[in-house]
Amino acid sequence: MKKVEVLAPAGNLPSLRAAVDNGADAVYFGFRDATNARNFEGLNFSESEAEQGIAHARAHGVKANVVLNTFPQVGNPEPWYHAVDVAARLKADAIILANAAMLKYCHERHPQLPIHLSVQASASNAEAIRFYKRHFNIARVILPRVLTAPEIRRLHDKLADVELEVFAFGGLCVMAEGRCHLSSFVTGVSPNIEGVCSPARAVRFENSNGKLRTRLGGALIAEYQEGEDAAYPTICKGRFEANDRVYHVMEEPGSLNILEILPQVIEAGVASLKIEGRQRTKSYVATVTKTLRQAVDSYYDDPGAYRVKPAWVRTLNATSEGTTHTLGTYEGSWQ
Ligand code: SF4
Repeated sequence: MKKVEVLAPAGNLPSLRAAVDNGADAVYFGFRDATNARNFEGLNFSESEAEQGIAHARAHGVKANVVLNTFPQVGNPEPWYHAVDVAARLKADAIILANAAMLKYCHERHPQLPIHLSVQASASNAEAIRFYKRHFNIARVILPRVLTAPEIRRLHDKLADVELEVFAFGGLCVMAEGRCHLSSFVTGVSPNIEGVCSPARAVRFENSNGKLRTRLGGALIAEYQEGEDAAYPTICKGRFEANDRVYHVMEEPGSLNILEILPQVIEAGVASLKIEGRQRTKSYVATVTKTLRQAVDSYYDDPGAYRVKPAWVRTLNATSEGTTHTLGTYEGSWQ
């Protein structure tokens, strides 16, 4: 049985090294501009850092994938074409693309560069994935977080020539991936085009009368009592008034964590388990990569004896939004 890959995020070179040191089989990162969907100040890689990162990963037998998962707009596609060319020149192990124009360009110009279809393309059924295979020869699809483990297995049975990558841990987007406009309504900056949801420059924390209020682009996202843990203000995880009460109307803060159903997910035929969080710290990358590595190795040591260790859950919960976790749509309770 081919072992599933542990794929870790890297927002900078120290995080990439931490992923390598803690057992990642592959890492993914983006360039320092709007061509990737974690375009936060101070994050991401220059071309020379990307070259160093790929060399470091390769020297340790780890793959390095470049992310280009935003959507170029009319009049300014050059940064996206340039980023594809740079990824090819640096001989990345794969490029993660969402936009059809970039898929076409990469497929025609750099046929040797394996393409992974980004989660931002929202391809969650066999017909859509086959379309991308036929036209752009994608090697892998990163599945949107809207499928259950049995649904992933059915997809795998239908798609012998496309690898499946799924999210194993990290923050959740509740929207159809690549289609969220919530943040841009209040900040004027789009996750899909400029690559940033809830940019730091639009965030405000206000203390008054013993309460902490978090705002995004001026909009009140949540109000916290003294001593209560405050989450980073994101609209989908805001506490709003509806039906005469104040609560998380769209989504509770909490991280996806699939350890509970790791055997079902691996046995569904996935090739890669992805950790979300290029915007998180080096310590987050190290901790989550190490824990997922341990869980995956424990499964392969003896699949029938696999059990989730309480220490893994405690460690991962400490890194989670809201210090709690969820199986998200793997449970099939909402889609
Ligand atoms: S607002 Fe929420 S659902 Fe939309 S992009 Fe941001 S994190 Fe994702």
